[in-house]
Amino acid sequence: MIKTDSTSNLTAAGDIGGTQIRAALVNRDGKILAESVGQTLPERGIQDAATRLSDLIHEVTSQTDGVVGLVVSTAGPINPASGTYDHPPNLTGWHGKTMKPDLERLTGLPVAIGHDATLAALAETRFGPFKGSQNLVYVTISTGIGGGIVANGQMVTGSTGQAGELGHISVRTDSEALSCGVGCHGCFEGNASGPNIGRVARQAARNDPVNAAKLIELAGGEIENIDARLAFQAAEQSDPVAEKVILQVIENVGRGLASILAVLDPDGVIVGGGVVHSLESRWDEVIDAVRTYALPRYQTRGIPVSVTQLGDDVSLIGASVLSFSRFGAS
Ligand SMILES: [Zn+2]
Repeated sequence: MIKTDSTSNLTAAGDIGGTQIRAALVNRDGKILAESVGQTLPERGIQDAATRLSDLIHEVTSQTDGVVGLVVSTAGPINPASGTYDHPPNLTGWHGKTMKPDLERLTGLPVAIGHDATLAALAETRFGPFKGSQNLVYVTISTGIGGGIVANGQMVTGSTGQAGELGHISVRTDSEALSCGVGCHGCFEGNASGPNIGRVARQAARNDPVNAAKLIELAGGEIENIDARLAFQAAEQSDPVAEKVILQVIENVGRGLASILAVLDPDGVIVGGGVVHSLESRWDEVIDAVRTYALPRYQTRGIPVSVTQLGDDVSLIGASVLSFSRFGAS
């Protein structure tokens, strides 16, 4: 059992992704003081994962006198009140289940579960360039595209906990637009997520192998090896086919982010995820693309879109913010 102390300046935080489980000890300044990582192994079942996460939590809190509680950030969809999963695509077999009771029993701590992107948005209202903001959106552009929304100072969860599916905003309507895994044609995720950038780049190389010579060379001569990272790299080295693919991605990202700004009028949109690391060197072009599709109010106001400064720890830090506000003594 871990001692619960609502006056402590420390909290336990967890993060469950499709491949990794992480536990951390975090202070009120969002600083991670200890961290431990394991594999998720979702196929072993949710109870097994809860036991292993609890072991990691015990590990990171072993040197402390007490923590305010435990908040776990997880890939969704989940109901944030109960922590119950609803057909999570990357946690097969966990549908209809929650690890909250197991974690409470195994750690002795008060436990809350949150959606990773929503907690990322919460972290950014506390520590990012839009610190102090009451209205902020976090968008992750990675294997998929998702988001978290803080509006009027509150996390927006929706009626079933599944708000923030920003990846399914329509960004294209032309015949070459791709669909996402869910099947919506022309959506943000279908046309700007990592796997889809790879798909478009492979098709483009097949259509015009002569002009895609650099791209194909970077892929070791095998078109099938082309992925998003190589497409960005080839564009950087002036491959005209890759450049065209990346320009289209930048436009798609611009359209998606412009729609988010229009709908939610946030103080800022923070963008994270693997694809953003590749886009960072062309961030001015991304901002120009957002401006092209943004409402007139943004022509004078500027485009409040930034890359996250909190890196891969953003959801863990968000979990700590929620833990102090929910379980800490004020
Ligand atoms: Zn979609």
